[in-house]
Amino acid sequence: MKIICIGRNYIDHAAELQNPVPKQPLVFMKPPSALLINHKPLFYPEFTKDLHYEGEIVLKICKNGRHVQPEFARTYFNKMAFGIDFTARDVQKRCKEKGHPWEIAKAFDNSAAVSEFVDAPEDTSSILFETKLNGKRVQNGNTADMIFSCEYIVEYVSKYFKLQIGDLIFTGTPAGVGPVQIGDHLEGFIHGKKLMDCRIK
Ligand code: ZN
Repeated sequence: MKIICIGRNYIDHAAELQNPVPKQPLVFMKPPSALLINHKPLFYPEFTKDLHYEGEIVLKICKNGRHVQPEFARTYFNKMAFGIDFTARDVQKRCKEKGHPWEIAKAFDNSAAVSEFVDAPEDTSSILFETKLNGKRVQNGNTADMIFSCEYIVEYVSKYFKLQIGDLIFTGTPAGVGPVQIGDHLEGFIHGKKLMDCRIK
């Protein structure tokens, strides 16, 4: 199982971090050891002083495939979840400045929080999701605002990596990312249904 992630897939988020809008999906991966499930808490890593949440829609791959054609892309995932792409922003900034890979900032243990899964809608063009931090809404996402659609991501990623049953795709975060502190409480919702509950310890 692999965890594929898309960066800068919402214009307003690219803008808030002063990043250019990509012409093709920006792809990175997290190892299976990054997975954090069952509402387990995240223990604040000692190597960062600026841990950020990024609330995202996560797709679950249900079919093996390479070079997926656009008209069949939707058939490669059947479930979705609310995910948090935890990011050590200060470490990521240092990696970016040096032109280094950013795995130590984004793919560390438990950096991929994933909620329970629900059925993905046939039409993925307007999935509403939100992130709450200590009860206050901090992110208000709609897949309609994605630069690259869920289907295009599947098509694009499968040119490079064989998709396998059980793989997860983090599809990118909208604006409103920010830091968390020990003691904070994160919640994630899709279409108003609470799916994610994660405490920072
Ligand atoms: Zn992300």
